[in-house]
Amino acid sequence: MSGEMRAARLHAPGEPLRIDRVAVPDIGPRDVLVEVKACGIIPNMNAIFSGTLWNRLPSLPARVGLDAAGVVVQVGRTVTGIAIGARVYVNPWLACGTCPYCRAGVPLQCSAAAFQGYFGFTDQSAPLLRAYPYGGFAEYMPAAAERLVMLPDSVSFEHAARFGYLGTSFAALRHAEVGAGSWVAINGVTGTLGAGATLHALAMGATRILGIGRNRAVLAQIKSLAPSRVDVLALGDYPVTEWILSRSDGIGVDVLLDCSGRAAAAGTTAAALGAVKRGGIVVNIGALTEKLEIEPIAFMVKALTFRGSNWFTTGEGQLMAEMAGAGVLDLASLKTRAYPLEGVNDALAEVKTRPGGLTNIVINPDR
Ligand SMILES: [Zn+2]
Repeated sequence: MSGEMRAARLHAPGEPLRIDRVAVPDIGPRDVLVEVKACGIIPNMNAIFSGTLWNRLPSLPARVGLDAAGVVVQVGRTVTGIAIGARVYVNPWLACGTCPYCRAGVPLQCSAAAFQGYFGFTDQSAPLLRAYPYGGFAEYMPAAAERLVMLPDSVSFEHAARFGYLGTSFAALRHAEVGAGSWVAINGVTGTLGAGATLHALAMGATRILGIGRNRAVLAQIKSLAPSRVDVLALGDYPVTEWILSRSDGIGVDVLLDCSGRAAAAGTTAAALGAVKRGGIVVNIGALTEKLEIEPIAFMVKALTFRGSNWFTTGEGQLMAEMAGAGVLDLASLKTRAYPLEGVNDALAEVKTRPGGLTNIVINPDR
């Protein structure tokens, strides 16, 4: 392809994005070119673009946009099995392929990991960001063929643009071995991660889902997803440990998923930890930075596990697409608010004011 396209670019940290005209990118032999139909706006984005956090921004001006879904319009010459017209989600996770972690088959722990169109995790991320300097807030973006998730026709591009946070929750629940009959507590259930975790826990067969959060309106929405399986607590209404125990036959939950945001209080997590069943698994996917007091002896006596989880594999993305396509993962409750590319700064402003919950803010670059 040749010609020009529109792309949102970050020119300086903390400044509004600008819509620039740039050349439609060429693709490498192992890449495809995706015509972007939807790209997600997520709560963390304003903080990342401010450049004030630890995350390494790509060199500026940078084409940005993390969770893109669209249609393949060009296929590199050594790509097999992917046809023009395929509907895809682009997993933005970039891994180097050669560091000790990648060689061991765990690219999610890559020493140079980066998110295409977003940021690098380490000071070794720059080469990967230079290799794929393309974000999803653009009419077209190149992507490596092996990072594509194929979308069934019944999964909308707008829902696929939520796959990043949905996939993070999904991978964490898999680490926690959530399945038929699991009892799961979700701290921070009203956020984007927590709401997605609820949808996944329902899809994976959990029978008791105990959500803890602040925003009462969003808590009511979460409860209404499955009133016989989901119960919710507004922080401050009742002590957290006792509330979870009262809804888990006095023995506690199998799994605690912590989705607390950066500014949350560690005390809530500590209280929820007190209501995890013997042998239970605690997974953190939040950004809680406050120090958490734990009693190591309780981990010994109760044989507990506490672990972190970040992002998800392309294979897990494909499982999500399969579940969503079959209706097992029900995304109908996500309420999409779509903006054209020119409205990207308005969309970023909106995400600051809304509790994530089931709101799904996306950009449609083809509008
Ligand atoms: Zn690596």
